[in-house]
Amino acid sequence: MAGEPQTDCLFCKIVAGDVPATVVRETDTVVAFRDINPQAPSHVLVIPKAHYRDAAALAAAEPALAGELLRQAGEVAAQEETVEPGYRIVFNTGTGAGQTVFHAHAHVLGGRGLAWPPG
Ligand code: 5GP
Ligand code: ZN
Repeated sequence: MAGEPQTDCLFCKIVAGDVPATVVRETDTVVAFRDINPQAPSHVLVIPKAHYRDAAALAAAEPALAGELLRQAGEVAAQEETVEPGYRIVFNTGTGAGQTVFHAHAHVLGGRGLAWPPG
């Protein structure tokens, strides 16, 4: 069924507590934890507890949860104190765009200058 945990999914294992992670924020529906290979001084992954392969699939199936994920990404930036001068929310979608974990996740990056376009 849509949104159900997948046994072969790393982020479902983090949600279940079977793989450790440095959790910085958790609600009934969302978990935020530090990226194991940070690309900025503050690099947090914000994920729905429900399993969807990417952000678009999440938004199509559960738009309210997709909105909540974005809201929580903003809360993470606030608690990481990256709102000023700015932070970036990234959803890599598909292998060609660098997606390696096929459980929807927002990268929330901040704490350094963030060039645009990112390259
Ligand atoms: P993607 O490449 O799919 O957009 O992002 C996946 C992210 O998950 C990468 O930035 C990678 O560093 C991170 N990652 C991979 N394995 C783990 C892990 O076991 N724990 C944590 N905290 N992050 C992970
Ligand atoms: Zn999953």
